[in-house]
Amino acid sequence: MTIYSGPVFDMARQQFNIIADYLDIPTDDRDRLLYPKRAISVSIPVHMDDGRTEVFHGYRVQHHLTLGPTKGGTRFSPDLDVGEVAALAIWMSWKCALAGLPYGGAKGGVACNPRTLSRRELEAVSRRYMQEMIPFVGPQTDVMAPDMGTNEQVMAWFMDTYSMYHGHAINEIVTGKPVALGGTEGRREATGRGVAHLVGRACDTLGMKTQESTCIVQGFGNVGSVTAYTLARQYGVRMIGVSDHTAAYYDPAGLPLDAIERFVAEKGVLAGFSAEALTDPMGLLSQRCDILVPAAVERVITAQNAGTLRCRILAEGANGPTTPDADVVIDQRGDIFVIPDILCNSGGVIVSYFEWVQDLQRLFWSESEVNDRLLRLLDQAFAQVTRRSQAEGISNRTSAMAIGVSKVRAGKQLRGLFP
Ligand code: NAD
Repeated sequence: MTIYSGPVFDMARQQFNIIADYLDIPTDDRDRLLYPKRAISVSIPVHMDDGRTEVFHGYRVQHHLTLGPTKGGTRFSPDLDVGEVAALAIWMSWKCALAGLPYGGAKGGVACNPRTLSRRELEAVSRRYMQEMIPFVGPQTDVMAPDMGTNEQVMAWFMDTYSMYHGHAINEIVTGKPVALGGTEGRREATGRGVAHLVGRACDTLGMKTQESTCIVQGFGNVGSVTAYTLARQYGVRMIGVSDHTAAYYDPAGLPLDAIERFVAEKGVLAGFSAEALTDPMGLLSQRCDILVPAAVERVITAQNAGTLRCRILAEGANGPTTPDADVVIDQRGDIFVIPDILCNSGGVIVSYFEWVQDLQRLFWSESEVNDRLLRLLDQAFAQVTRRSQAEGISNRTSAMAIGVSKVRAGKQLRGLFP
């Protein structure tokens, strides 16, 4: 019996079992590697603006503490449950290990809809969540960051709540906070910038010219929008499709990204931008393009639609966008170069690591130094993954996960089992 269940956790377990079989990991070691070290579940009572008291449910899952503190984002979304949080924590572990960061994976969040909360209610949820987590987190134990539904402001409230409790400023308790509070230059853009850089590397590998390539991005939040702007402005890619939870647009001649950027900055969502380019959101994934970037939620590429994809590169900005059943279809097709999530979106946690290091040292770097170091680590990880996939004749996902899982396993073997 375990508290972890649901489709996202099942997916993380299924992926792990595929890798454990591939690496021939003995049955005895598997549960120790897969199941989280601890899970915290809290109730968050909040005075709502209409006078009611509402109780929200919050979670934090720390996957393993073998290589250092745990690290991971905080998600505010209505249907969040502990199984989803655990899956995201597990993926963070493989991601940090692949990038060579001294962290285990964690994830947390609150089951709430941040879009329907007032600013005061959002602040109350954020502060009470962090307050409930104080006994379980710390700069050497577990360091939080933003994820879907949270942002720099929420991180600032987390940092303030933690610091007020301890009586002095502890910037290094969270990453992804505003630069004015000890955040790092380049963190907000890091994930999307990393996705765009790796797409560039994949294009080089395949002999594709980015200036002649087209791209569709699902999800227009932090990761999706920065990926879209960077690919368009720095790499000359033509953006032909974008979507968020409110609308999807497609125009093979190219979408006006600058106008979209201004519209979203003002309205917060894509709905209402254009009547002509409107398209079916799920159908968007199957439109012909060179680069497809799912940058929203999990499990959008399934066995049902994997056969209909018409892209050359699948760059997974989101965590877990492709199910293991879809992987089988994609592997059989053999015509899509996958940049798996734990590699593709690792720019976020890499620059979070830089932020934590800078906070601990009280010594801050320029944005160009942050970016140079980011690209160096991404290049190393990309080279490791593609070398192993070619040498062993396996998919990029199997290669990336095999590297991540092996590093965590090696750490556990060296430390042994206490007591
Ligand atoms: P965000 O909240 O800033 O944006 C999410 C976007 O997805 C929004 O535009 C939302 O409208 C859209 N969306 C939600 N459901 C959708 C649907 N069904 N179809 C189309 N669009 C939909 O979140 P984010 O930080 O950009 O995170 C996006 C993904 O990237 C998540 O999977 C997250 O775990 C992953 N990720 C984020 C970071 C980071 O640094 N923020 C790092 C690594 C991975």
